[in-house]
Amino acid sequence: MLQWARQAYLLINYVIMSPFENAWQQVQSAATIINLDPSLLQRLAQPDHIWQQDLKITLDNGSEQSFPAYRVQYNNWRGPYKGGIRYHPAADLDEVKALALLMSIKCAVGNIPMGGGKGGVVVDPKALSQAELERLSRAYIQAFYQHLGPDKDIPAPDVYTTPEMMAWMADEYGKLVGKPTPAVITGKPIEAGGSEGRGIATAQGGYYILQAWAEKLGLQSLKIAIQGFGNAGLTMAELAHRDGHNIVAVSDSAGTIHNAQGLDISALKEYKKITGQVLGFPGSETIPIEQLFSLPVDILIPAALDNQITASNAASIQAKVILELANGPVSPEADSILAEKKIIVVPDVLANSGGVIVSYLEWKQNLAGEHWSEADVLAQMKTLVLAGLADLSVLSEKYNVTLRRAAFILALQRLQAAAK
Ligand code: NAD
Repeated sequence: MLQWARQAYLLINYVIMSPFENAWQQVQSAATIINLDPSLLQRLAQPDHIWQQDLKITLDNGSEQSFPAYRVQYNNWRGPYKGGIRYHPAADLDEVKALALLMSIKCAVGNIPMGGGKGGVVVDPKALSQAELERLSRAYIQAFYQHLGPDKDIPAPDVYTTPEMMAWMADEYGKLVGKPTPAVITGKPIEAGGSEGRGIATAQGGYYILQAWAEKLGLQSLKIAIQGFGNAGLTMAELAHRDGHNIVAVSDSAGTIHNAQGLDISALKEYKKITGQVLGFPGSETIPIEQLFSLPVDILIPAALDNQITASNAASIQAKVILELANGPVSPEADSILAEKKIIVVPDVLANSGGVIVSYLEWKQNLAGEHWSEADVLAQMKTLVLAGLADLSVLSEKYNVTLRRAAFILALQRLQAAAK
């Protein structure tokens, strides 16, 4: 009965909490554990700046349309604001604020000299032509360029924004300030000053952690299930398959496929390229989409959407480790259930930090006018990701908390040390 009441309380709390309140609650819980100075916590309670403007562009048919746009600069004690720009019909200020706060945490956990920011435009990018998307991307920079810059705020791609859009944005910024400034934006194509390794960085960073766990568990060949077969999920599947791990299930938005002996990932990649989905892959069986989460695997990797592991499916999870390649795939109430089941959750702020770390390395290359090899970039990223994992493990033992709570503790300690 008590257990039921607790679940109900957590659920009600979650339903009524906004994304920002959710993220802020994580900060508060960590702050309580380390007795963070209340005045410092107060200073972290709101972003430094919220910029917003409607972007008016001319559509291909000659009519004009406005799109609400935001840039939130959360905290810059550790370095310039850093965070992607999201194009999404459901983008809203509260969500952008939450993501900007989480970028401050992620950059601190990754130990890179950057703060947290995020941008958003309320738009359905699939409804616009390439020319309209270019006008919109350039309009974003025209609206906010005075607040951006290599030592002020450095955007990057996020949901539905691409390297090509970053190239348009960097070009527009260069025109407005009168000189080419590639270091103003990361995630650019290589020919526009992008970094080697950026395309695979998110999955590769997560894979370094997976390898560390395999070693710790003494397992040669892990059984893995992956939700999502896009940039992050597919790259992770390729890396793990190459090293002899068994990817026993994969899902995309159309469904889940399973093969207890392991899927042939190279063949599946080709199959998806041709058919647009994983369903029907020869040698696999289709299982209910939700069953991916309850399979008897060693590692479960959500690499699609937020809020996928919730109070309704967390209890059925059999994996020993959940590696959050997606942002926010585990709900707060699921987090409590998983902690009770002693399932280790490697939190997104570490598990997918390879992306922002390589973004930081791109910025460094641009500032120095250099172009480093992929091996060099990945080696630097690996050092930072594994150092983050070691730091989180120490804090998690010291305070007897989950790795997620340890990540927020680590970030707050680093922010405190840098407080201006
Ligand atoms: P993507 O668009 O390339 O791929 C998303 C995949 O998820 C697609 O295969 C899609 O079919 C699948 N999907 C969508 N709905 C699904 C559902 N209901 N069930 C199962 N699969 C579903 O996106 P991505 O770049 O791979 O990003 C995935 C996640 O990783 C996101 O949460 C993103 O924020 C996070 N992330 C990505 C990066 C990066 O560098 N790509 C960096 C940090 C975090």
